[in-house]
Amino acid sequence: MIKKFLQKVFSKREKAAIAINQADVGATTANVISAKTHKIDRNLISPAALKTCEGLQKAGFQAYIVGGAVRDLLMQYKPKDFDVATNATPEEVYKIFRRSRIIGKRFRLVHVMWGNETIEVSTFRGHHQNTGDAKTADSGRIIRDNIFGTIEEDAVRRDFTANALYYDAATEKVLDFHNGVADLKAKLLRMIGDPVTRYQEDPVRMLRAVRLSAKLGLKIEAKTEAPIRKMADLLQDVPPSRLFDEMLKLFLSGHAVESINALRAQHLHHGLLPLLDVVLEQPMGERFVMLALKNTDDRILNGKSSNPSFLFATLLWHEVLAAWQTYQQQGNPPIPALHMAMNEVIDIQAEKMAIHNRFTATMKEIWAMQPRFEQRAGKRPYALLTHPRYRAGYDFLLLRCASGELPEDIGEWWTVFADASTETRTAMLLPDTGPKKRRRRPRKKAGSAPATTAATTSE
Ligand code: ATP
Ligand code: MG
Repeated sequence: MIKKFLQKVFSKREKAAIAINQADVGATTANVISAKTHKIDRNLISPAALKTCEGLQKAGFQAYIVGGAVRDLLMQYKPKDFDVATNATPEEVYKIFRRSRIIGKRFRLVHVMWGNETIEVSTFRGHHQNTGDAKTADSGRIIRDNIFGTIEEDAVRRDFTANALYYDAATEKVLDFHNGVADLKAKLLRMIGDPVTRYQEDPVRMLRAVRLSAKLGLKIEAKTEAPIRKMADLLQDVPPSRLFDEMLKLFLSGHAVESINALRAQHLHHGLLPLLDVVLEQPMGERFVMLALKNTDDRILNGKSSNPSFLFATLLWHEVLAAWQTYQQQGNPPIPALHMAMNEVIDIQAEKMAIHNRFTATMKEIWAMQPRFEQRAGKRPYALLTHPRYRAGYDFLLLRCASGELPEDIGEWWTVFADASTETRTAMLLPDTGPKKRRRRPRKKAGSAPATTAATTSE
């Protein structure tokens, strides 16, 4: 009984809330752009995103595709991920979709799963005050933010005008609250509201400005750009894991080289972004790292995948090389010295850069394979070809060759060897001058010195 009564009251309240939101939409000054005008190609929209909106709307809620996806659709790009905004609370969203889960603390969201695609559904955010479930640090940075609101409030809270566009999948209309469409036409990336306040609230927006302008070929509008240099230091307060996520997006945007040059131009480096310091502050490695980033950009623009572990392995390779040399100078044999160097770099750098453990195992595999590419005699090259990460190791080798660290012919040798016939391979092998397998000494000679540990090891 009580349950039924509560349900009734609750659904009345919900209906009232929806009515208010709808009135708000009616009263707002949003430009409403019809399909005829915006010409969004519906084929570029993920069916999962459409189904999510449909499910929410059928249950009586508002639902829009929002943010970067709408921006990309207007620019005729295929969006890589879809976000949906709604007036349903996370719990309500969760109840509607069987395959969904509530995630996040800073922002509570729902992930709705369709096959292997995930649609991120967020409830309209309201104004944040230091009350209720919102929290701000002394610097003005928003730490937690779970106040729900109307669609207009949600639009004001977004970062750039071009990111505050809402696509209604049912009517195919775009709601544009901050003249984002006009800015997009003018190729401008403009912050909503006062840029200084918005950077104080969330310094990561400075990185987003640089990343999105490089990715989309937009110019950062003058007032949006001006405070960045002065406010760069605020990035120091941002938790490393958030910086890491944003930098990873930047490195894997397909425009990493341009983004890094832009970050430099905006003075957003030097001590602010550990991941970037590693790239920029190693004269030896810069050529290698920039080549690697160019290579990643090309892969992504050609629709190929790019593995973050590979990228991090390139970013830290010259640190590994330096430490490897030091350990060898201290008298350690090459392979153990390499492993000591790898562990040292992972312990120090990976921690500083907040590289997640899930990436470090693959990074080590790629590094540990490298000396094996220089062994081109006997059975060893055949064994290397069967390594599960051979392809990544080989791509890494090619970068080392291209950067001048190794002679080009080593890379060329592997390129040919990998695809050659059995006879060609046999003919290609170099004379075996490497260490021969040691013959076992006859056992048990009392008093004899213990055998030295083998220098050649494994990965
Ligand atoms: P990308 O194409 O790289 O995914 P995006 O703009 O979609 O770019 P997301 O991180 O996916 O970036 O964010 C989705 C949307 O959430 C943005 O379009 C924007 O509306 C909003 N948003 C993201 N980060 C912020 C932020 N720091 N401050 C305000 N709004 C943000
Ligand atoms: Mg996005």
